[in-house]
Amino acid sequence: MKNNVTITWITHHPDETERLGEQLGSLLAAGDLICLSGDLGAGKTCLTRGLARGWGAIQHPTSPTFTLINEYTRHQDGQRFYHVDCYRLEGVTDAWTTGLDDLFNGDGVIVIEWPERIHDMLPSDRLWVQLTDRGGDERELIFTAVGERSGRLLGKLSLRGG
Ligand code: ADP
Ligand code: MG
Repeated sequence: MKNNVTITWITHHPDETERLGEQLGSLLAAGDLICLSGDLGAGKTCLTRGLARGWGAIQHPTSPTFTLINEYTRHQDGQRFYHVDCYRLEGVTDAWTTGLDDLFNGDGVIVIEWPERIHDMLPSDRLWVQLTDRGGDERELIFTAVGERSGRLLGKLSLRGG
C-alpha cells in the first residue's frame, strides 16, 4: 500500500465543493479522520456539509466555531460524526486533551477544521485536505493520504472520479 498519495481537485462553485464532500462522505466509516486545513473562507465548512450529508447525517451541519465540536448522528446505525473546529483554540488545555483523546479513541467519523492547532495530538493516519482560495469561486483542494487507512479511502474516492 502506497503512503502519502496526493490528489488535487479544483472546484468553481460552493455546490461543487459540497458534492465532492458528499462523495467522500458516502465512503466514510467509523474511525476515519479528515483534517481540513486552509484560511478562513477557503471552504472547509462547505466541504464538511457535503461530508456529513454524504455520510448520512440527519441534521444539517453548521459551523461549530462557537461550540468547538458538533456531533451528528444517522438513522441507519446510530453512528456518530464529529465536526471539530479548532479555530478558537489558543492552547491545548487538559480538558481539551481529554475530550479530544476520547474522540480519537472512539468509534465515530472525525472532521477537523484548523487541525494544525492540535497537530501534536492528531492520530498518525489521517486524510489531509489543504484548501486554497484561488480567487472568485475557484478553490483548490489537495487531498493527501497519510497512512494506509486514509490511502484506501482516497483510492476509493479517486475511483469515483471525485
Ligand atoms: P471556511 O470554513 O474554510 O472558513 P466556509 O466554507 O465557511 O470556509 O466558506 C467558504 C466561502 O467561500 C463561502 O462563503 C462560499 O460560498 C464561498 N465559496 C465560493 N466558491 C467556493 C467554492 N468553490 N467552494 C467552497 N466555497 C466557495
Ligand atoms: Mg469553517
